[in-house]
Amino acid sequence: GNSYSEKGKNSVKTSAEPTSNSKLRTGQDIILTLARNSELEDMKDSIISFERSFNSKFHYDWWFMNDEEFDQEFKSVVKSLVSGDVKFIKIPKEYWSYPEHIDQKKAASSRNEYEKKKVMYGKSESYRFMCRFNSGMFYKLPELEGVDYYWRIEPAVRFDCDITYDVFQYMRENDKQYAFSMALQEDIRTIPSLWDVTKEFFKDNPELIAPGNSIDFVTDDRGVSYNLCHFWSNFEIASLEFFRESGYDEYFKFLDERGGFFYERWGDAPVHTIAVSVLLPAEKIHFVGNTGYFHNPNQDCPRNSELRSSLKCRCDPSTDFTWHKWSCVNKFFEIHNYVRPDSLDNIKKYYP
Ligand code: GDP
Ligand code: MN
Repeated sequence: GNSYSEKGKNSVKTSAEPTSNSKLRTGQDIILTLARNSELEDMKDSIISFERSFNSKFHYDWWFMNDEEFDQEFKSVVKSLVSGDVKFIKIPKEYWSYPEHIDQKKAASSRNEYEKKKVMYGKSESYRFMCRFNSGMFYKLPELEGVDYYWRIEPAVRFDCDITYDVFQYMRENDKQYAFSMALQEDIRTIPSLWDVTKEFFKDNPELIAPGNSIDFVTDDRGVSYNLCHFWSNFEIASLEFFRESGYDEYFKFLDERGGFFYERWGDAPVHTIAVSVLLPAEKIHFVGNTGYFHNPNQDCPRNSELRSSLKCRCDPSTDFTWHKWSCVNKFFEIHNYVRPDSLDNIKKYYP
């Protein structure tokens, strides 16, 4: 079953070709959110939007994680809005704090420097705990042991189009490990040393580099430097198997040892993206287009009017960032020579 076609020539190339040895996955698939009690209003907006677009058809369970206890109001309100079951997870302290080797004075003075440079969240300590948790901790939560795939959703996002197929089922059937929607460029000041540390790791562990990977998505000069492209991880669907078994966790541990989550401001998005691009064959990555996804300040909105009306989109195509010239989504399609799912005809090549 070829689902993606290669442009031009006579060849057909797929990114959706099922690999025959895909393991039997018996766990469940969940929507997964990290949030604070103070974000209840934004959380309601995300739930209402995602239920309307997707989950009212499929009723997946929605699990909420927090470094503090969720209060009663948060719990009862979200429970009343989700069409599946809900669960609330308190993150253990050791997943949301400094590892022992970190020099906390050095971390604090680095935050001051970042604040002076006006880097977003530069002075925030909790933002760094959050990025480290999303990079190396969530997949170790005992509550997630029986989970196969998660769909990460944040407070204050929107899905302005209908999602008409079961994306989890699609990922299972096609043995996809990671799915993204938007992709953009990181602020280099948050990750000055990440690429060099990454190169060190893969020099020591070359056997982890997947054949048919997407390294060209993250470098334009054959590995000399990082081009800053990253899958915007506020939208993310992934198999926990990837984080647990691909070598990802070894990569995370290596990064964590270097301290860049605290001495710099490494985000989980570039970390996930570099790992996905190197550790996975390209055909295990799925692009989820045409959802009308919005996370401030970027909007996805199908530019093709047939597509927009067929998916009942409520967005303005002139605001679309997905295929904007600054969007890294273009690069992903270029390096693999995939057809873009940007018309009704083309999406038929992706989905049955
Ligand atoms: P941005 O997307 O990079 O601007 O960062 P956000 O403020 O949206 O944070 C990313 C995710 O982490 C969101 O789901 C937030 O709700 C969550 N988050 C950020 N900081 C905290 C925190 O201190 N505690 C908890 N429980 N969640 C947090
Ligand atoms: Mn966010």
